[in-house]
Amino acid sequence: MNRHAGGANALESRIAAQLDQFRKDAVYKTFNYLDSPQAPRVEMEGRGRVLILSSNNYLGLSDDPVVMAAGKAGIDEFGAGTASVRFICGTFTIHRDLEVACARLVGTEAAVSFVSCWNANEALPGTILTDRDIILSDQLNHASIIDAMRLAKSITKCETGVFRHGDYGDLDRKLADAHDRDVKIVVSDGVFSMEGSIVDLPALLEVCRKHGALLWLDDSHATGVLGERGRGTAEHFGLHGQVDIITSTLGKALGGAAGGFIAGSAALCDYIMQRARPQLFTNALPATVAASALAAIEILEAEPERVARLRDNTAYFRQGLVRLGFRPLPGDTPIVPVILGETAAAIRMSQLLLDEGVFVTGFGYPVVPQGEARVRCQISAAHTREDLDEALDAFARVGGSLNLV
Ligand code: PLP
Repeated sequence: MNRHAGGANALESRIAAQLDQFRKDAVYKTFNYLDSPQAPRVEMEGRGRVLILSSNNYLGLSDDPVVMAAGKAGIDEFGAGTASVRFICGTFTIHRDLEVACARLVGTEAAVSFVSCWNANEALPGTILTDRDIILSDQLNHASIIDAMRLAKSITKCETGVFRHGDYGDLDRKLADAHDRDVKIVVSDGVFSMEGSIVDLPALLEVCRKHGALLWLDDSHATGVLGERGRGTAEHFGLHGQVDIITSTLGKALGGAAGGFIAGSAALCDYIMQRARPQLFTNALPATVAASALAAIEILEAEPERVARLRDNTAYFRQGLVRLGFRPLPGDTPIVPVILGETAAAIRMSQLLLDEGVFVTGFGYPVVPQGEARVRCQISAAHTREDLDEALDAFARVGGSLNLV
């Protein structure tokens, strides 16, 4: 037998065994196929019309006619794709316009777009750090930040560390130990996506400033969501313009298509354009997506009432759940998790809700800690009160049948 065939067989059988184990452990994911745009109600293959409470379409812009028309106009003006890398074959004016808008929104001098926030996060530390620097990350930060730190450590030999979630005493000690490092960067999610909690930005900034550390905030679940005008975590705390580096996504509240950005000083963004490998060695965001995202930002700027509606809807749904006897994790964001304990319980609840026509995803270990499996509801400004009442009725029925309330 040739060696390649042997290797392929070994891989196939290992993968097959692991997939079997996922099924036995009830952690095998099934994928629900949709036949319509992301909206409060979607067409789900095999199920028909389903009310969706598990998308990041916080402002209802995914199927907004203006956002969709901008995408169509983008394809007419710039074509289907970018056909290479920005510095090699030219960079479209729509990317520059989008980056100006991103920087304006989050309150920095400049921004650089990427095909996703995953890419933006991955690009940042590995490009700017050296072996004389350190980066410290909140324990519950998003997977893309965890991987970005691993990559940065391997590329640059920078020191990396993790501080306990939201424990700025721990961070303070770790920064004190790192006093001899040239550059110190602290990174935190603005909104923690599995908890729906908001970082204590004033406290975090104070510790960073005390030690001369730069703060990098990933505002993916906060952009378009927090603050009076949806400008994110910093606006929520009256600190707009005071965070050193912000990364965020265009794939959630801002139209929900794809894309992300790094926002910071003009020099930082210039350096990222010069040196970041996920900028230099891959195609830019398709122009159609950039055009939709730009339209989404302009709508957000012109219609802050969408953010207010999102806040009202969230409060309404949270209060409804509490009235029914559920105890969602407390918070002010449109991410509303209900802890159920074991993974199987979360998956069961999400299946029963889907049988009721309500799509809410269950999350278990290893996405969340063992014993803290949950269903996570996400509210949109586009949900009507009827939508939310219907979801609450489904929660009442399913919660009753599972003896949860
Ligand atoms: N950062 C955070 C905090 C996220 O929640 C996500 C998406 O789940 C990302 C980054 C990745 O965003 P994108 O889908 O643009 O890659």
